[in-house]
Amino acid sequence: MRITRFGVERTHVPLPEPFTVSLGVIDSADLAIVTLETDDGLVGYGEGSPTPFVTGETGESVLAALKLFEPLLLGADPFAIDAIHRGMDQILVRNGSAKAAVDLALHDLCAKAAGLPLYRYLGGASGSVEVDMTIGLGEPEAMAAAAAGLVAKGYRRIKVKAGADEARDVAAIRLIREAAPEAQLQVDANQGWDVATALRMLAVYADLGVVACEQPLPFWDLDGTAYLRRRSPVPIMVDEGCFTPQDASAIVRRQAADTVNIKLMKCGGIHRARQINTIAESAGVTCMIGCMLESRLAIAAGAHLAAATPNIVLADLDSFLDFDDSPLVASAFAFDPPWIHLPDAPGLGVELA
Ligand code: MG
Repeated sequence: MRITRFGVERTHVPLPEPFTVSLGVIDSADLAIVTLETDDGLVGYGEGSPTPFVTGETGESVLAALKLFEPLLLGADPFAIDAIHRGMDQILVRNGSAKAAVDLALHDLCAKAAGLPLYRYLGGASGSVEVDMTIGLGEPEAMAAAAAGLVAKGYRRIKVKAGADEARDVAAIRLIREAAPEAQLQVDANQGWDVATALRMLAVYADLGVVACEQPLPFWDLDGTAYLRRRSPVPIMVDEGCFTPQDASAIVRRQAADTVNIKLMKCGGIHRARQINTIAESAGVTCMIGCMLESRLAIAAGAHLAAATPNIVLADLDSFLDFDDSPLVASAFAFDPPWIHLPDAPGLGVELA
């Protein structure tokens, strides 16, 4: 099997409501959809969703990166995934969203060639994944109302953004705890604190039974994160501080995290995600699969990976609910909150519109 055609289409989709985190405001999804065709008639789909303030990529840079990868891919064997990743890394370091677009399409092709849904191709047995839902920064009362609404819909785990304003974060989490007394609450500070602030906030969160705190400190402060974790009453999750398998190795050697948040758009897709997970699992560190502002295409890929990977114990795969991707994706998976049920069709099981 050889790749005979490489297509890229860029789609810009505004969000009905902007999503605010401590790093900035996201008001649209800027997606690059990759299509790989093979000489035996298979078609694989991938998606890149850049987040400039996290991955350093833009819609334009993803297109430029994919143009650079095209000669490597045309004529290549889609099963040679590790060689293709090494080739992409030689052409361009980082650029995880662009590499993820290629990687997802390769995995879609391989699983289709095997006649298996991707989660089974990756070794998984069940195609159902429970997801959480994230509440962005806003008025504390509105955030609590959103939490109550999520519990009513059946969600059991809620992720709450924080890190921009200490007093509002405390007010919000207290109201959310009242509105959702049974829910597992996870806080994501998106690098918004220093060590002293984090220790103050984590004491409040511990009192309210918060089960995890994601990326309390700047992404580069691994020593600070390790120091904080030794003193924190709440388990620490690293997100923006882990892009690569090498990052994961540094994190586990310094014992800086209880959990690593893997995102396909940070690490460059499923191949590197599995390497990160293996490093984490070997050190007793669990993983979450997270997402950027991804359509159901990339969300399906994350769900397949989670379904095949027992050490990925949490799935924060909710971005497809933030915008209408129907002009792009015709069908992907069944969603019965809080469960994603993957189809039995070969590959990602995604049909484009
Ligand atoms: Mg995060």
